[in-house]
Amino acid sequence: MDDIKKTHTTSKLSSICVYCGASDAVNPKYIDLAKRLGTQLAKSGLRLVYGGGGVGLMGACARAAHEAGGEVLGIMPRFLLDKERIYTEVEHRIVDDMHTRKMMMFEEADAFIVLPGGIGTLEEAVEILSWARLGLHAKPMAFLDEDGFWQPFFELIEKIIEGGFIPADFRSAMVHCRTPDETLDAIKARRIVLDL
Ligand code: AMP
Repeated sequence: MDDIKKTHTTSKLSSICVYCGASDAVNPKYIDLAKRLGTQLAKSGLRLVYGGGGVGLMGACARAAHEAGGEVLGIMPRFLLDKERIYTEVEHRIVDDMHTRKMMMFEEADAFIVLPGGIGTLEEAVEILSWARLGLHAKPMAFLDEDGFWQPFFELIEKIIEGGFIPADFRSAMVHCRTPDETLDAIKARRIVLDL
């Protein structure tokens, strides 16, 4: 794990990993937000790193980034190829298992954006936060929603801080944003804070 820290505390910001829901059965407003984020990443010259699927918010974000001329890398575990309908129009890697996928997504990214999602999204975001808590990396993370989707998560973090389980300055490991623009600005600002 020491190696992770050495390799991943650079201040470079060229690739953003997006965690988000894979379900198509969601309110269309979430799909729309994912599309707008994908477009914004492309316009900002940032590479999108994501789970490789063509479904749900994942597919919407990747397609929008690709169609706007952005660079996209998808990383898909073999057993999900059909279920998450791998999006083959962009660079993609097929890996053996979920752990390899998650580690590769982490390694390929300089920062993380968490869109609305389900259990998988939550797990991926919390794992990255837990590595930050252990001091294994200092890559910034932003949660993006327009409707307060992640508000209960931030309330839980406040309870955790109140309870003394994590220090108050851990708040700087994550930020809650309302628009793709605000999110990219926050990540850039966060990167500077965390690099100090
Ligand atoms: P979900 O948020 O459940 O729609 O899942 C979003 C993405 O997270 C999908 O690409 C899933 O393959 C992935 N995922 C599901 N479960 C897990 C897990 N336990 N760890 C990491 N990723 C997961």
